Amino acid sequence: MTARITGLRTYDIRFPTSRELDGSDAMNPDPDYSAAYVVIDTDHPDGHEGHGFAFTIGRGNDIQTTAIRALESYVVGRPLDGTLSDLGGVWREMVHDSQLRWLGPEKGVMHMAISAVVNALWDLRAKRAGKPLWKLLADSTPEELVDLVDFRYLSDALTPAEALEILRRAEPGRAEREAYLLERGYPGYTTTPGWLGYDDAKLARLCKEAVADGFTQLKLKVGANLADDVRRMGIARAAVGPDIRIAVDANQRWDVGQAITWVRELSRFDPWWVEEPTSPDDVLGHATIARAISPVKVATGEHVQNRVVFKQLLQTDAISYLQLDAARVAGVNENVAILLLAAKFGVPVCPHAGGVGLCELVQHLSMFDFLAVSGSMDNRVIEFVDHLHEHFVHPVVIRNGNYLAPTAPGFSSDLRPQTLIDYAYPHGPVWMEGEAA
Ligand SMILES: [Mg+2]
Repeated sequence: MTARITGLRTYDIRFPTSRELDGSDAMNPDPDYSAAYVVIDTDHPDGHEGHGFAFTIGRGNDIQTTAIRALESYVVGRPLDGTLSDLGGVWREMVHDSQLRWLGPEKGVMHMAISAVVNALWDLRAKRAGKPLWKLLADSTPEELVDLVDFRYLSDALTPAEALEILRRAEPGRAEREAYLLERGYPGYTTTPGWLGYDDAKLARLCKEAVADGFTQLKLKVGANLADDVRRMGIARAAVGPDIRIAVDANQRWDVGQAITWVRELSRFDPWWVEEPTSPDDVLGHATIARAISPVKVATGEHVQNRVVFKQLLQTDAISYLQLDAARVAGVNENVAILLLAAKFGVPVCPHAGGVGLCELVQHLSMFDFLAVSGSMDNRVIEFVDHLHEHFVHPVVIRNGNYLAPTAPGFSSDLRPQTLIDYAYPHGPVWMEGEAA
């Protein structure tokens, strides 16, 4: 009998992070980090499930969860093997749904819902193959990888033939790079010290701890108040010395002119990059800022809605670092496209992470990039934020500032079963207790 996909379960999971001001920045003062979570069930006797999620910061996580449910017909009832062996085809069907497409197209809640489902299917495929996702992708042929990508809207910047060439160029040395990755891991940087809600003493202490832990780059949230930012940047620079890279992140707070003025004020502290200086949709604004603040570099990506906007950011030299997000664009397939675009333009990818489980996901994409796409770790780092990992069955492992390559089969996306009970919103025990208190 042909095994089939039998169910798509969703969960509205929220963590009350606003109680401690973890995750506070200039635009998001009180986030409750949340996951619109999906589990894909099958009737195969091996019992594997596919897990995926969209990350939100609280209110609206119910809307996100409902959007995932709208994709049920693309998954449930399908033959298991046929579906998993054609994830390029499944991606195209979902993204091109002529009615759901009206809600985007290819952006926002519906696109994030597709990311959750697509990533859950990849998790299931990797579990069934007995490999971590980075390894499954890196073991694919260039032709198989190119078939995952939808080149519609990209071909003026990247053709399938160019993508094949990039992937073939990265084939020599892959085994050596894999051995290096398994031994050393992949460099991370930490955002833990720099949340805007932390006081100066906590900032200085956490900066020093980050360096002691082996990180060579850290990041500060900025953008709410210039005098505060100058003071905090001074504290951080004094705490870590001149050789540690300090990036700053404005979380879209500024207009273009304001961004230029603000970054010039901070430039005496030698910021490594300025992240999300303005609206993520403003490609030309990013390009203007990049020209004006050079040699300080611009980074963005966590709110870039799809591969088309990334294409434009690259075509206009608007960014020096590309910060893809595992669960905002439509999952693994679209991120393969984005990694290929970045390689074509020679821009390092430094993924956005933190949130709920984003570190767990993006590590696979960076490791795949190192093995099979860019072939490089130069100036590439994965964001690391040290909270909520304990809720995952296979949390990231950081050693001396590096992400160690995950070895468990899958996409590292499984939340622990007890977490799905305790943090269910609004009736899980954590939220019921919060109300009583
Ligand atoms: Mg950011």
